[in-house]
Amino acid sequence: MVDVHDYALGRLWRTPSQGEASQFFAQLRVASQRARQAWTGSTALSPYGEDAWPRVPWTLLYSAPTDVKGPIGAIIHYTASSEPKGTVRWFCDPALSSRASAHFVVSQAVEWPTGATDGLPLVQALPATVVLCRDITQPAWHATWANAWAVGFELVNQGCETPDTTPRPVAATAAKRVPCWGRLWQPYTPMQSTAVAIIIRYLAALFPEWRPDLVLGHENVQMVQTPEGCGGHDKRDPGPLLDLGTLVRAADPYDLAQTGLMDGAGNIQAANLLSRLRYNVGRRLPRDTQGPAALSTYLDQLRIFQFAAGLVPDAIAGPKTMAALTARIKDREGG
Ligand SMILES: [Zn+2]
Repeated sequence: MVDVHDYALGRLWRTPSQGEASQFFAQLRVASQRARQAWTGSTALSPYGEDAWPRVPWTLLYSAPTDVKGPIGAIIHYTASSEPKGTVRWFCDPALSSRASAHFVVSQAVEWPTGATDGLPLVQALPATVVLCRDITQPAWHATWANAWAVGFELVNQGCETPDTTPRPVAATAAKRVPCWGRLWQPYTPMQSTAVAIIIRYLAALFPEWRPDLVLGHENVQMVQTPEGCGGHDKRDPGPLLDLGTLVRAADPYDLAQTGLMDGAGNIQAANLLSRLRYNVGRRLPRDTQGPAALSTYLDQLRIFQFAAGLVPDAIAGPKTMAALTARIKDREGG
């Protein structure tokens, strides 16, 4: 018997065609519909979001398409829960009026309702259950300004605990926690991150303008602004235990850091701080191996940080930007 996880991993290293990607999402739609029926009593997708990906000139990024016809990146979240059912219900049951949604809810292992993946080999090959809650032709509501260009992934994970957190029920605290950045975090499962990487690979094949460097955490695009720059009680998901770099490489196996293109081109100090905050400064753009594209990737990541921190997104690492980066590092790493 072929190990499903190995099979899925094997698929990672081959670029699917656009046709294969369409086939995959068609199968995922069917399996997800069955799962929603089993878990919510209805086949409905989430109604929460915009009607279509915005078809307006994109001004924040230097190197984005002028007319967005689909998602060009992804934002990763955690659910702060221990199973996918509740989140799928929260997104898809109109009676709950959650007014929030994400495209994919990713469980920690394979836990489809009985029969949900029957006759759907591409979905059976996924190492975890992934339920579509919002059609990928429509934006969801999960990350404020980034909704306009990013699909949302909700990973089933309990998130972090701090000493001042209200104690959770025994069942919720039973999961093994890993200390990092002054908090306790629940690890993601390898099956879960592999499943995300596979989906990203298919998204990249389906959407021609897909940008591997725009796979970011919620914490990278939504932060509370304070006079010092940023920090406070803002978004912390997906946290330090998810290796976003691996997810990015899954769709773009080249590493800019090896090319030395950053030397003398960008502000190395700012790039290092961005990198510590898990922005993708070291990745090149797809289908372009030249220096200017590499530089614009760094500049785009800097602009995303500036915009999220309430600064002017001018891509200049001036004193205010450097102070905000340092404040954010201090908040995150406690250093
Ligand atoms: Zn989030």
